[in-house]
Amino acid sequence: MTGADQPAGEVAVLGMGKSGTAAAKLLLARGSRVYASDAGISPTVHANADALRLLGASVDVGSHDLERIRRASRVVVSPGIDPHNPPVAAAHQANVPLVSEIEIALAALTRSRVIAVTGTNGKTTTTALIGHLLRALGVDAVDAGNIGTPLSVIALSDQHPEWIALEMSSFQLHDTPSLTPDVGVLTNLSPDHLDRYSTTEEYYADKARLFSNASSSSKWVLNADDQLVNDMAGHAAGERFRFSTRIRSDAWLDSTTGTMILRGDSLMPRSELRLLGDHNVANALAASLAVSIADDRFATTESLEVMANALRGFHSLAHRLEIVGEVDGVQWINDSKATNVSSTLVAVSGMKRPTVLLLGGRHKGEAYTALAPAIAKTVKKVIAYGEAASEVEKDIGKLVNFEKLGSNFEEVMERARQSAGPGDAILLSPACSSFDMFRNYEERGAAFRRLALQKS
Ligand code: ADP
Repeated sequence: MTGADQPAGEVAVLGMGKSGTAAAKLLLARGSRVYASDAGISPTVHANADALRLLGASVDVGSHDLERIRRASRVVVSPGIDPHNPPVAAAHQANVPLVSEIEIALAALTRSRVIAVTGTNGKTTTTALIGHLLRALGVDAVDAGNIGTPLSVIALSDQHPEWIALEMSSFQLHDTPSLTPDVGVLTNLSPDHLDRYSTTEEYYADKARLFSNASSSSKWVLNADDQLVNDMAGHAAGERFRFSTRIRSDAWLDSTTGTMILRGDSLMPRSELRLLGDHNVANALAASLAVSIADDRFATTESLEVMANALRGFHSLAHRLEIVGEVDGVQWINDSKATNVSSTLVAVSGMKRPTVLLLGGRHKGEAYTALAPAIAKTVKKVIAYGEAASEVEKDIGKLVNFEKLGSNFEEVMERARQSAGPGDAILLSPACSSFDMFRNYEERGAAFRRLALQKS
């Protein structure tokens, strides 16, 4: 079909990977006309294109018809794709609304209830904890969104889950205007993604979209220790529940007894949570609170015990303060997912051993100076590397034992090994994205693990 006889109301789907293809199938099933295109020509793209064509979609493999995209009624796009990407730019210029595949999926998942999680840090951990707790309670629940299976794939399955733990990044919130969670969790807020947003305010404005469709039946789980979070929730309609690692709240850590308290009842001793760092106590409190308010069934004494047991059995997720091993008395900790300054700050603050800190990668725009007080306490040496090394040096190079290296990760690891002795820790918590040297943070974490354990 050419652009001239393009049907009115056609939806353009950019990308025929797993989520784009699933979104296109959902749209077709709901009677929409679909144009799907992908610049790639891999066998997977070809196979997905064939499947969509059979279902009635128009498809282009290896190119995008920009004219057609300009005339679409909506464009489904992977959140966070660079706005300069030609098909996205074409949609923008023509004022075509861009939506995420999550937006498409939510329209089909009308019976599933949703606990949505956003915030600058701790989203994945909190979402995974929520899914884990729900499943422990015997509920049919999936983790989706920025974590796990694309939501459109879940929407295509025969049986829709009863509950969805849905991780939402700021980019996904931007493109998911209909999101109306039963429970919304806001973990914390600090500057991030300044490589993609022109101001912090713009980034926060996307986070605030969590509250866009607030109503009297909404329930919000908020971090009592974070003023920005409370300000952002503002006057949004709905009930508020708060968690804190400092003050008495709906869920909180009583540090005098070391007990995690959930809605007035003792949940479990903090020492029984296997996750490192107080930020993970916050994540566990947020998750248990979100689940316990989601449904009366989950608020009984019995459920509290089930949740406590489930929390005891939860191990850290890969690349998030993950202890990969102890070699010659040196503990190697992979926190490759710490891609902003605030997440590195919590990691460094939680260190108990003298630490060699590996900091660097692609600079995202934040200053590293905020790390200085925490570094002074436990860090014996900072090794800065990658594109950001000079920026890191400028901010903290004079305040600590400091070494600047280039972009050879093997060399970085070798210097780290030489710099640490028995009883020390080597922490990769880079405060930067990985894209200057790796495909993503997972690849960086995997390289860390491999090189850390190489000589054991
Ligand atoms: P996100 O999905 O928001 O990136 P993750 O759960 O993947 O969060 O954790 C990423 C990193 O952020 C962790 O390695 C840790 O250093 C840090 N982090 C996790 N939870 C929190 C929290 N509640 N507050 C601050 N930093 C956190």
